[in-house]
Amino acid sequence: MKALYAHAARDLRLSPCDAGDPGAGEVRLRLARGGICGSDLHYYQHGGFGTVRLKEPMILGHEVSGHVEAVGDEVEGLVPGDLVAVSPSRPCGACGECLRGLPNHCLNMRFYGSAMPFPHIQGAFREVIVADAAQCVKAEGLSAAEAAMAEPLSVTLHAVRRAGSLVGKRVLVTGSGPIGVLAVLCARRAGAEEIIVTDIADGVLGFAREAGADMTLNTLSDPEALAPYQQGKGSVDVLFECSGAEPALRGGIAALRPQGLAVQLGMSGDMSIPLMQVTAKELSLMGSFRFHEEFGTAVALMQKGLIDVKPLLTHSFAFDDFQKAFDTAGDRSRAMKVQLEIA
Ligand SMILES: [Zn+2]
Ligand SMILES: [Zn+2]
Repeated sequence: MKALYAHAARDLRLSPCDAGDPGAGEVRLRLARGGICGSDLHYYQHGGFGTVRLKEPMILGHEVSGHVEAVGDEVEGLVPGDLVAVSPSRPCGACGECLRGLPNHCLNMRFYGSAMPFPHIQGAFREVIVADAAQCVKAEGLSAAEAAMAEPLSVTLHAVRRAGSLVGKRVLVTGSGPIGVLAVLCARRAGAEEIIVTDIADGVLGFAREAGADMTLNTLSDPEALAPYQQGKGSVDVLFECSGAEPALRGGIAALRPQGLAVQLGMSGDMSIPLMQVTAKELSLMGSFRFHEEFGTAVALMQKGLIDVKPLLTHSFAFDDFQKAFDTAGDRSRAMKVQLEIA
């Protein structure tokens, strides 16, 4: 069995790893697709992000789908051959945060492909994995490529849920990568009346328009593009900051109307914020981190045709071509979501 390890920045290697047999409550999966996420790219390009650094070789990957190959004891509802979306979220279920109903904040979280804890949590870009049956959501009716989008879609569903009602609201999404575009789809589904998207690259803004954004603005070629929304005290109700870039957050906060809400999803390290505007406009500032129960919702929304992720799936590469896949994923002029064809 092979797995894709990140040893350090710019050092990815396909090396052997063990699989093992499923125990009680577990299944063995032959992985089919693995989407490359911004965090995987950070490990590849920089060896980590913020204070999170690679300290030992780590298998990347947390956006995966696969087929059930073997089923352990006490597993119900899954049989060999089933296509499943695999949630990388593995909270302990017993710590204070889990018991408080916040499993995404589990103190013992074992989220696939994360260098936050040490030893690092090994990821899922691998041919075979033993997973808890509870992580697997049957994805019949979807392609393996769509099923592997359940994870990023869960991230944006969680953010939209955190934001509260969007019905009739004017929403600004800063950053038009996969998370930004999925945020557009989720905000629209949640009743947003007007959605504006900004980025510094024209190519990716096309995906936001295709996803239903009413207005897309390139803030690199036109630094004043948001000025109409910043007039007076601002006119945007909710900001979803999906870029992790400080100028995007600043521009978005300037566009928020009094008592507006900024939801921060983008992650690239600490940013400074214009706190005086937060005070003087009585803004709310909210973080959004991962997801848990939204994973099943993500699969269901795709199965029902209520959210279509297919236009985001721009590239896929054979597992052995991982180098090309990561280099493509890092090129925003060409790629939206890049996936590995693991099997
Ligand atoms: Zn991801
Ligand atoms: Zn826990």
